[in-house]
Amino acid sequence: MSKIQFLNFEPMHLAIRTEMQEAFQQVYDSNWFIMGQCVETFEEAYARFNEVTNCIGVSNGLDALHLALKGLRIGAGDEVIVPSNTYIATLLAVSYVGATPVLVEPDFATYNINPKNIELAITSKTKAIMPVHLYGQACDMDEIMAIAKKHKLYIIEDNAQAHGATFKGKLTGSFGDANGTSFYPGKNLGALGDGGAITTNDEGIAKKIRMLRNYGSEKKYHHELIGYNMRLDEMQAAFLTVKLKYLHQWTQQRKQIANWYVKALDNIPELILPITHPDATHVYHLFVVRTQHRNALQNHLTENGISTMIHYPIPPHLQNAYASLGFTKGDFPIAEELANTCLSLPIWPGMTEENISIIVNCISDFFKNGNHNS
Ligand SMILES: *Cc1c(COP(=O)(O)O)cnc(C)c1O
Repeated sequence: MSKIQFLNFEPMHLAIRTEMQEAFQQVYDSNWFIMGQCVETFEEAYARFNEVTNCIGVSNGLDALHLALKGLRIGAGDEVIVPSNTYIATLLAVSYVGATPVLVEPDFATYNINPKNIELAITSKTKAIMPVHLYGQACDMDEIMAIAKKHKLYIIEDNAQAHGATFKGKLTGSFGDANGTSFYPGKNLGALGDGGAITTNDEGIAKKIRMLRNYGSEKKYHHELIGYNMRLDEMQAAFLTVKLKYLHQWTQQRKQIANWYVKALDNIPELILPITHPDATHVYHLFVVRTQHRNALQNHLTENGISTMIHYPIPPHLQNAYASLGFTKGDFPIAEELANTCLSLPIWPGMTEENISIIVNCISDFFKNGNHNS
């Protein structure tokens, strides 16, 4: 039986092995490991890639979101609107600055925050909206930007899953006042460890966040703010500069894989495939299907050597960490339904059409044989 991993770095990393080793040697021989030329070079390259004037490299995606909120002076007493079906990090960042996350249900088709529900959640305390480009698809940024403008709210994009996605041709990570992204190894652009960045077109906010990530200091031993140690390493920056050159090519492969999946799975009525908004692009960080028979399908795939994952099995409002928000089962029915029915299939650059056909045959067998009714 052939085994198919959920995520396999090997094809990507084999192809760039020599370049990555050279990047390592360059940093190793420079004897300079924190806040140097490699971070600067990567920040310039990523800013160019994301079509923004400023990129600030930081320690990870969660810290990037935290610093974006802090840089915009969001704090105690403020409310920040976040999707009810996001990864916990979006809420944690809001909690770190002392603000309250306000959950808003997503659209049932795209799984991204539903602009119609955002307006209903706005109060006099609302300061910002955090759209999450979930699974790699850009949110409806036309409507979200219009709401922000009308109510004078900040936008902080959580772009951890959508490097290179667009809405009406404009890149995610370039809409908001300050946006966070992650370079966690498994993300579409991943370091060989933790990493993240803030992207912004506002020079003043960029300057402040640069200080905040490095002890509140611009000049060594002069501290303007009560800052943090949330820097991106030289080593990770050097690796990311190499990998960024291949991101477009890897994204194309993800789209190709998604196409193969859709073509082959389109005729299974019990299976809901990803739907992309006509004005959005999807970079398929994850390929998420849904079915009422999710657990049985996952077991069937596992028994056949195919690894899958669930993003995410428990929505934030049902996590013990957020018991203080006072929610119970049934409060966010769309987020709960998604959590109960979603399944992420394997997707990684280098996957072959043969890999896909093994997976889709296994899924087709499951539904054909009526396993799901047993
Ligand atoms: C990965 C992720 C984060 C956090 O990034 P880290 O680098 O792991 O801290 C935040 N939000 C979303 C939506 C993510 O997927």
